Amino acid sequence: MEPADYLRELAEAHKMTYFGIAELTAPEVKNFIVGQGSSAVAGYPVALTVGLAASRALVDLLPGANDLILETYRHHFYEVQGGRVAAMLSILCGELQEQGYAALPISAGPKAIDRTRLSALFSDKLAPHLAGLGWIGKSCMLITPRHGPRVLWGTVLTDAPLKATGSPIPSRCGNCRACADICPAHAYTGRDFDPTEPREARFNPMECLKYMKQREAEGKQGTCGLCLYVCPHGRH
Ligand code: SF4
Ligand code: SF4
Repeated sequence: MEPADYLRELAEAHKMTYFGIAELTAPEVKNFIVGQGSSAVAGYPVALTVGLAASRALVDLLPGANDLILETYRHHFYEVQGGRVAAMLSILCGELQEQGYAALPISAGPKAIDRTRLSALFSDKLAPHLAGLGWIGKSCMLITPRHGPRVLWGTVLTDAPLKATGSPIPSRCGNCRACADICPAHAYTGRDFDPTEPREARFNPMECLKYMKQREAEGKQGTCGLCLYVCPHGRH
């Protein structure tokens, strides 16, 4: 069996919703990685990506949600789902390392971020985008045709000689700007993703964080998720 097929079977055996392989060697991809503040890990030629779809019923409760629902959502999405993705990354890294390759896991989640830039060590959207699993939407999230942005992603960077499983899907956001319109923090500009522009041309993460902090200062649950909820590509 080909190594890529074996890794995909592992991901499927652990009930991951998505699996893909992205090649990171193109100069424009390298520039994007460095521009995102990830120069420390920009030398890897390949990224594996796994994604786990969120509970649709739970995300659908977010508009008007009280603190108990918001805490239930936060716990399930980041701790329960995030824990499963992180465990999957550990398994994939173990397999690659035993075969003699370097393998570096990048888990998603609100705690694994640079606090000044509010960005992760490596963008969790980049690998699924390059692997053909979705496009980067006006919300700066990875939008899949089946589950929209309602997916938690994780990445393994590696030097294993694996081939890409797909190519980027062009944006299907069209005239939609539902994520920008619903955001209570006005954190989005409503611009389409353009890899040559900085993230701040589309999204100001500080405004999102300020909104969460303001809620906490008022004694409320500091979670939102409305941009995740509203995307028509994840709603049924
Ligand atoms: S989580 Fe809420 S506040 Fe933050 S960007 Fe999304 S809609 Fe705006
Ligand atoms: S809500 Fe609309 S504009 Fe925003 S990411 Fe989804 S499709 Fe794109």
